Amino acid sequence: RAKQESRNSFRFFSNHMQLQTARNLQLVNGLRHAIALGQLAVYYQPQIALENGQLVGVEALLRWQHPQLGFISPAEFIPLAESNGLIIAIGSWVLEQATQQIQRWQQLGLDKMTVSVNLSSIQFRDPKLPALVKSTLERYDVAPDCLELELTEGVALENPMGAVTMMDALNALGVRLSIDDFGTGYSSLSYLKKFKVYKLKVDQSFVRDLTTDDEDKAIVIAIIQLARSLGLKTIAEGVETPEQQAFLQAQGCDEMQGYLLSKPMQVEDATAFLLAYPHHH
Ligand code: C2E
Ligand code: MG
Ligand code: MG
Ligand code: MG
Repeated sequence: RAKQESRNSFRFFSNHMQLQTARNLQLVNGLRHAIALGQLAVYYQPQIALENGQLVGVEALLRWQHPQLGFISPAEFIPLAESNGLIIAIGSWVLEQATQQIQRWQQLGLDKMTVSVNLSSIQFRDPKLPALVKSTLERYDVAPDCLELELTEGVALENPMGAVTMMDALNALGVRLSIDDFGTGYSSLSYLKKFKVYKLKVDQSFVRDLTTDDEDKAIVIAIIQLARSLGLKTIAEGVETPEQQAFLQAQGCDEMQGYLLSKPMQVEDATAFLLAYPHHH
């Protein structure tokens, strides 16, 4: 009977794999033309300072509307784009969109705000990345400190020495670096010393049960204190409730982002939101 079950579960697994593969193939093929066909869009999610509630920035988050399959999550298609090199073209498109948007927002008076862009570890290993960032900023006449680049802890693990060189090159341009999903990767704390990042993004998995789970609470407090001791800023991701916000504020977390404030929005909606929100002029 065990054998029967395992054979059934194998068959199920195998069918499931085939479906996955067919879907992945369809996605990969679609992805090749998604930019040209206008199926990709950059959405923006606002970030505020916890101290005074003022707007400090937005995160650029990629969206893909597939003609047959509908909305595809970046959590699904970014890994596919990474596995076949398409992430380089897609990543530079996102960077360009976001930088152009910084220029437009500055023209509307939103000039005290950063835009953060997620970088894949594949982009991060591309020796042409610093030149790309520099030329994109120049093309739109945007000051480098308006752009933040989000890396994950994985980049440190994959190539520690290369990572330091890349970070030095990006820092030299004047852009800000942050570590996304902080606390979920495997980077050793000593890397934080070498890495010269500006900000740690407290992963949303710790924020979710912050007010009810003592371990999550302890982890979040530890990350905020670690960052403070190292002179780094902190932003909490995935803040959904006023209780989470109050806790983070009381602990001295600098900034927050999450559904409590707003979901990621298409550019027109984001612009309206940002203009209506208290911000420095
Ligand atoms: P991430 O960079 O950690 O982005 C945060 C994710 O949390 C986003 O998911 C965002 O929509 C979601 N989020 C924000 N606030 C809340 C909240 O209050 N509650 C919950 N439950 N979720 C919240 P999204 O947009 O689906 O993106 C998923 C991941 O895909 C991103 O995680 C990032 O790793 C990757 N990604 C998105 N855009 C890009 C891109 O342009 N380039 C690269 N390389 N990766 C990207
Ligand atoms: Mg991010
Ligand atoms: Mg994150
Ligand atoms: Mg993530």
